[in-house]
Amino acid sequence: MIKWEVKSESYILNARNHIKSEFLKLLEINNHSFTANALEGKSILLSNSFIKKLFYLYDDNFLKGQLEKFIGDKMKFSLSKRMTSSGGKSIFSKSVQGYSYEIRISLPVLNNFYLTNSEKRVSGLVVLDHIEALMIIMEHEICHVIEFYNYGQSNCKAYRFKKISIEIFNHKGVYHEIPSEKSLNKKNKSTNISVGDKVKFTFKDKIYEGFVSNITKRATVMVLDSKGQYKDKEGNRYGKWYVPLSNLHK
Ligand SMILES: [Zn+2]
Repeated sequence: MIKWEVKSESYILNARNHIKSEFLKLLEINNHSFTANALEGKSILLSNSFIKKLFYLYDDNFLKGQLEKFIGDKMKFSLSKRMTSSGGKSIFSKSVQGYSYEIRISLPVLNNFYLTNSEKRVSGLVVLDHIEALMIIMEHEICHVIEFYNYGQSNCKAYRFKKISIEIFNHKGVYHEIPSEKSLNKKNKSTNISVGDKVKFTFKDKIYEGFVSNITKRATVMVLDSKGQYKDKEGNRYGKWYVPLSNLHK
């Protein structure tokens, strides 16, 4: 069994900072272009060996090297250009020697990070750049690996997975909110509102202005607000509103 202690928020934040700086150092040493904010609009150069290094940074800092010890010889890492909705995937395959494990990371999801400058979250946590997005995706996949190793199956929609991801990493969810080309192109035909549009809406006789950061059944509208809890790269603060599409005007 892979074991862990329930981590405090401050432990988790410190360990993440440490991992991020170690990971950035590795990328710089290898003369890599995968550095913070360097790639807006460009594709990410990332190789399997960097994914592997990130995995073991997490193993050292959160799991006392147990992943290496128990499944180090069975782990593989890969990158996918085709995975466009999931940020990562854990694949378990059975052979005569037992199970082998693979963590696959989506390049399109990381590359889409700068499609908009709206706030992004992975597993319910705010991420400030594509490195942090990659890190939280890795944390999610590590929880899959642990759950599979300990119990022979893994499902991130079920309670047991959520408990593991909260105890080790304090995750608040299991999805990512990074825009995709598809979501940006998604238009509501009746209102013709798209992600990124500037919009107005009325609430209790007051007119609000903002921009659309997401569209599901309702639109998510970010409204400039000095007391808002969301902050963009420029330091502007926003409040988040969920507005029915029919109430929005350009
Ligand atoms: Zn999952």
